[in-house]
Amino acid sequence: MPELPEIICRAREMNARLAGRPIRGIEVLQPKCLDVSVEEFRGGLVGSKIHGVTHRGKWLFVETSNGHLLLNLGMGGEILLVPTSKLPAKWRVRFDLDKGQSLAVNFWWFGYAHYAAPGKLTDHEMSASLGPDALDVSLPQFEELLSGRRGGIKALLLDQSRLAGIGNAYIHDILFRAGLHPLRTIPSMSKKDVEQLHQAIHTELQRSIDKGAAFYEVGLDGKGGGFAAADLLVGYREGKPCPTCGAAIEKIKTGTTATFVCPTCQPLHDASPPTKRPTRTKKT
Ligand SMILES: [Zn+2]
Repeated sequence: MPELPEIICRAREMNARLAGRPIRGIEVLQPKCLDVSVEEFRGGLVGSKIHGVTHRGKWLFVETSNGHLLLNLGMGGEILLVPTSKLPAKWRVRFDLDKGQSLAVNFWWFGYAHYAAPGKLTDHEMSASLGPDALDVSLPQFEELLSGRRGGIKALLLDQSRLAGIGNAYIHDILFRAGLHPLRTIPSMSKKDVEQLHQAIHTELQRSIDKGAAFYEVGLDGKGGGFAAADLLVGYREGKPCPTCGAAIEKIKTGTTATFVCPTCQPLHDASPPTKRPTRTKKT
């Protein structure tokens, strides 16, 4: 699933290569990924010119001369810049540009291609309800975000309406770098914990961005990023040595998902008292 590093790298590449180019035609194979009718989508965007591409959370905002095209790849997908005569085998929405090229958008599972007419971008609820971008949030804003909250820190970091852009690929290494156990609650965190976590978010996301983001997400030419599985510190490295202390990395259950932790570097001390030990049920 694309997260902030992948979306940022994609937005930068799209901005560099698409700005100034016209949208001359649109084909839609999956109308349910649109938020308006195919006619309205085409009517708004065909004949417009791309001004630039930015992002917020996991959304890509393509600003045109007639409103915005908003793309969200959901669980993953490709946005490829290809000759219109050599389209990829799978695409759901296609934008025909100049120079005989098309932007072919494919969703692995389900994604969105939305249209916001001029002046209507703030009416787009799915992107308007996002929290601040995880890389843009300042330390005072981050402290404010956590203040008075009672839940677990991991759940908050993954809640896109609080903080946008962090998902299951980077969460493990962010918590590891901050020295925080994934079961830590927000009230149990000291001011220093909060500062370290804020710094860890920046360090870990930027480390991937600097390498062109994750290897499994491709850019406009179909090439993957340079951030490899081996670049992860503890994420998905169960049984391998911790890069700091050498202890074996463990995979633990956190709610419905799993988290990878170093049992030594991420102690659960200072946390709220553990919940009552589950009562043993008799086997039937
Ligand atoms: Zn360790």
